[in-house]
Amino acid sequence: MIRTRDLRRLARGLRFRLTATYAIFFIVPMIGVTALLHHRVATGLDNQEHDVLESEWGAMKGYLRIEKNDDTQRNEAVWYYDPLDSEESRIVLNTKRIYVITDRDGNVIIQNSTQSPAVSASFKEIGLEPPSEIRDKVRKALAASRPNTELMAFWAVRHNAQGEQFLVRSGIVFDEAHLLGRVEPYYVAIGLPLRQYDNILRQFTWLCMGVIPGALILGSFLGWIAAGRALAPVRSVAVAAQRISGSNLSLRIPVRDAGDELDYLIRTFNRMIERLESSFGQMKQFSTDVSHELRTPITAIRGQLEVALFTAQTTEQYREAMFNALQDIDRLSQIVRALLLLSQAESGQLTLQKSHLDLCDVARDMVEQYQIPAEAAGVRLTADLPPDCFLEADRVQIERLITNLLSNAIKFTPEGGEVKLSVRGPGEPEAEIELVVEDTGRGIAAEHLKHIFDRFYRVPGPSGGTPEQGLGLGLSFVAWIVKAHGGKIEVESSVGHGTCFTIRLPAPGVGSGTVELAGQPAAS
Ligand code: ADP
Repeated sequence: MIRTRDLRRLARGLRFRLTATYAIFFIVPMIGVTALLHHRVATGLDNQEHDVLESEWGAMKGYLRIEKNDDTQRNEAVWYYDPLDSEESRIVLNTKRIYVITDRDGNVIIQNSTQSPAVSASFKEIGLEPPSEIRDKVRKALAASRPNTELMAFWAVRHNAQGEQFLVRSGIVFDEAHLLGRVEPYYVAIGLPLRQYDNILRQFTWLCMGVIPGALILGSFLGWIAAGRALAPVRSVAVAAQRISGSNLSLRIPVRDAGDELDYLIRTFNRMIERLESSFGQMKQFSTDVSHELRTPITAIRGQLEVALFTAQTTEQYREAMFNALQDIDRLSQIVRALLLLSQAESGQLTLQKSHLDLCDVARDMVEQYQIPAEAAGVRLTADLPPDCFLEADRVQIERLITNLLSNAIKFTPEGGEVKLSVRGPGEPEAEIELVVEDTGRGIAAEHLKHIFDRFYRVPGPSGGTPEQGLGLGLSFVAWIVKAHGGKIEVESSVGHGTCFTIRLPAPGVGSGTVELAGQPAAS
């Protein structure tokens, strides 16, 4: 048994709605055309009825005379025709079938008994007009500028007791045979049974009423089939999509190469899965990296503490173990802080605290801070700064940006190399402030250059093996800071010769620029 819920679900389905739309589009013009056709047939039949009756009226005028019977001294209707002429007989008999003749006062004229009665049997059934109405019509006809019978044609539809319809044509006839001083008007009405015409119209109406539901059923059926065929690929796409899960994101929905919207949808869907797969991959890589990065200091801390607990004997040994453990804890908290910051930045929780800032001042401080690690690495760290260079920026984030760039530059520049930080103030027409960090380090190959701003991306080690220490988060954070300040970052690198990061930030009073992360490897 079909439940209401199933029916409701079916009615909400795309196939049902498409079918309904198809059926409506099919049936509405159909009803319109049928109604028009019906109207045309009805009007045609009506005209035909009037034409037939009008021609009978014309014939009647030719064959009918009103004469006074010398014996009875009463007016009589006399039909003058040749009974042997079948055509004439037919016309007269047709006319006499339903007819009535009265004098100008509405008194029915009695005919001679050999002819049919003045008031035909059928006419008695449909009822005679009251004499007052007949007198009225005669008066109107006589009042016309000249007695014009054509102008005085009256049409009516009457019913008999069985409800059958009759079309009645009445009018005034002038008895021209009695031109003895005056023209005598008579009222004549002839009728036409409409049964045959009604039957034709009724049959046509039934035909229309049968055709419309038939067309609706046929239209719905065809619509259902067509919608089913159109939606069949959607179902197969859904089945294919259901097979894709977190563990098998490598599955793709096969493209049908039909070049239609569904192919477009499938391609878009496949691209989405591709992106998801890459994100999932990154996440997996990330959790592996994070656990590895966290495990190293944790293992080291454990080692230091075990040393302190089991082997250290002197205060000096205790102190050293504690000191090493503390250093590893520092590294641990650094990693955790970086992760936290990046997730805050990407979820929009980190807002900039902008102030009017001298970039040269910040750059000078950072270069000073990095002199010691640079010396330790045997790298010459220099700065090329104008006296001042003001901009609207978040000091903490700008410091973080410079820290990341300088520490990378020092880390990847071999002993004897050079790292230089320069600032150039806004020059017309750019109205941009440039911060450049360049080194003479090992450089980055072109295939890696376009990825270095991606989260967790690390350039593989020299032998293509495990990358250097670090989570690959530093440059994605730099990119976020530049973007948040409405600036642009570019990188040029040449393997074995060095790398140059150029950051352009809008000068104060200049609207934020668009954000572009561009990697442009120079020819090595
Ligand atoms: P991390 O935070 O691990 O240092 P980054 O996002 O800062 O990661 O850097 C991503 C990768 O870009 C690093 O793995 C490194 O190989 C490369 N890289 C960054 N700066 C330089 C540079 N100045 N010279 C050479 N390689 C660099």
